[in-house]
Amino acid sequence: MYLLETIPAVNIPREHPQILSYFSNEPVSRGTLILIPLRNKPTPAIVLSQTDISSQKTQLKKSSFTLKKINKIISLEPIFSEKEFIFLKWFADYYFLPLGLALKTILPTKLLKAKGPLKTGLRITNYELRNLESNSSLYFSDDRIDFYIQKIKENLKNNKQSLILFPEQINALSFFNQVNLIFEPNQISFLSGNLAPKKYLDEWLKIASNDTKIIIGARSAIFSKFSDLGLIIIDEEQDQSFKSWNMRPYYNSRECAIKLGEIFGAETILASSTPSIETYHKTKSRIHPPAGGQESKKSNYRSSTSIVASAPPYVIPEKSGIQTQHQIIDMRDEVRKGNEIISEDLAAELEKISQNSRQAILFINRRGSATFIFCRECGFSLHCKNCDVPIVFHKEIKGEKQLLCHHCGHREKSPDICPKCGGHKIRYSGIASQKAEEKIKELFPDLKIKRLDSETVLSTQDIQKAISDFKEKRVDIILGTQIILNKDFPKADIVAVLSIDTILNLPEFRTDERIYQIINQLKKYRGNGGTFLLQTFKPESEIFPIALNSNFAKLYEREIEARKLFNYPPFFRLIKLTHRNSNPQLAFKESHKIAEKINVLSGNSENFKIIGPAAGFIPRIKNQYVYNIIIKSNLGIKDRNNILNIIPTKDWTIDIDPISLI
Ligand SMILES: [Zn+2]
Ligand SMILES: [Zn+2]
Repeated sequence: MYLLETIPAVNIPREHPQILSYFSNEPVSRGTLILIPLRNKPTPAIVLSQTDISSQKTQLKKSSFTLKKINKIISLEPIFSEKEFIFLKWFADYYFLPLGLALKTILPTKLLKAKGPLKTGLRITNYELRNLESNSSLYFSDDRIDFYIQKIKENLKNNKQSLILFPEQINALSFFNQVNLIFEPNQISFLSGNLAPKKYLDEWLKIASNDTKIIIGARSAIFSKFSDLGLIIIDEEQDQSFKSWNMRPYYNSRECAIKLGEIFGAETILASSTPSIETYHKTKSRIHPPAGGQESKKSNYRSSTSIVASAPPYVIPEKSGIQTQHQIIDMRDEVRKGNEIISEDLAAELEKISQNSRQAILFINRRGSATFIFCRECGFSLHCKNCDVPIVFHKEIKGEKQLLCHHCGHREKSPDICPKCGGHKIRYSGIASQKAEEKIKELFPDLKIKRLDSETVLSTQDIQKAISDFKEKRVDIILGTQIILNKDFPKADIVAVLSIDTILNLPEFRTDERIYQIINQLKKYRGNGGTFLLQTFKPESEIFPIALNSNFAKLYEREIEARKLFNYPPFFRLIKLTHRNSNPQLAFKESHKIAEKINVLSGNSENFKIIGPAAGFIPRIKNQYVYNIIIKSNLGIKDRNNILNIIPTKDWTIDIDPISLI
């Protein structure tokens, strides 16, 4: 008879034990997937250890009879290797997750639903485990694809697997199509959370058995079952899409990939033309420009040694032949002239489109792109009844204006008269992408414009269609929100930022970095001799010239100083604790009580600073009052988790490395 320690692959609240004991009549190896009875339901679990107790004393035998027997062995071979146990433990510890939830996140759903014996054909090889050390570097360049392919080829020669991560599925697909022309298609796996569960499991097993050598995917591809990983590339490493910010567990694929690199001893390359301040800081002495040969002829980067020698930061030189032609437009003047969304200069540029068959890409910031409803007579603005946010205009159905709350989905009909003063002058304000579209259509009725935002883009295909329409000149103007960044749009004659000020006004420490990234990603769309216009109500902001000149050195210098001063990353790790409560007094009390407890536990440590609690930027969402506590921590994971342990599970969420602090 065997005593088994198991990890159930279900979310068990962290105050309960995560490792449960069962017995089995047959031996079951560590790493095997089995079914155990949990709350009278067969539940998938991974075996952590087995002990033969047949020959042991009756005492132990007796006590183990109070244990339940496992239901069934599912995988005929172990499916979890030592490396995966290490990753699982790190994943759960680092993100402060119950072990069961961490395991459930990693394993394919299809596998967890398996009811009968499953022949995976896997042979878990346990490599000798070394000390974990990071071999990561930064590839700082605009043109990266050729470099990726060269690295994959080198890695293939060593018969090792490569993982190439992209922020969004559309980027991953585009790369997948390119490598399919270069490498044997059966060597390549595309892994995405959007695959059908059966297909996902098939790809997962192919990767596990080392049949595929090149694994391409977006966020969740880090949960592939790698057999022998030698190379990891994270494209656009700064992209916030790598973070699961709206769904528990709140992990970041970039951090997970770096950890995988350590576990497998794989070369890890963080790549971008607008790297994050954190990554630049960490990899400062390991930054590479394109390798020699044709690459270096194409662009005018300095040689490898001089880059390393010249670090700290350098400026990406403008490529020769492209004139720097950008202009900041003061929208305060424009409003005085009566131009609301499109400035005089931009209108003049767009005018040229119709004359010379040119093309334009226009950006409008997603946040604040909604249309608020307010009364022109008393200034009253309409709010959602469940959340403390303005309710926004959604669409017109049969002459009736529909309003929508983006936070809870509440819909209502727009009032004809002001609910407060009874006035009749209800106005719709704010720069909406829809409103901008209408304005452009009104000014230039002949131009074909395609609006791309969360309303018009529902799938990857919608973006792909817009890109090909623009390529084949069936569309003159692309007008879009963040959705248009980092896509394969061809170069345009005019690139303009209609509005970006709402980001500037957010009380977030990454604001300048974000603006730099957005402007520089848009600049890539500007063709040779093209024009770049930036409309703003704050033309004096120092970040604009830095971003427009792609002066990364200056950005880094400013940012790193401020972050050191205010204890932000990369000097401290951030943790965001959020409490939600339907009772405003209780919300206040409970969040203050917990903050006090944390304060006492951490003993005013220099390495653990607590800010707040403070009411959320949106103080009430879905009828729940929101309070945030921000922690800046330099403690090791274990000490940090000892403190976090006092936070109740109910009504609290814990976000490690949050992307937003408000
Ligand atoms: Zn009114
Ligand atoms: Zn709402």
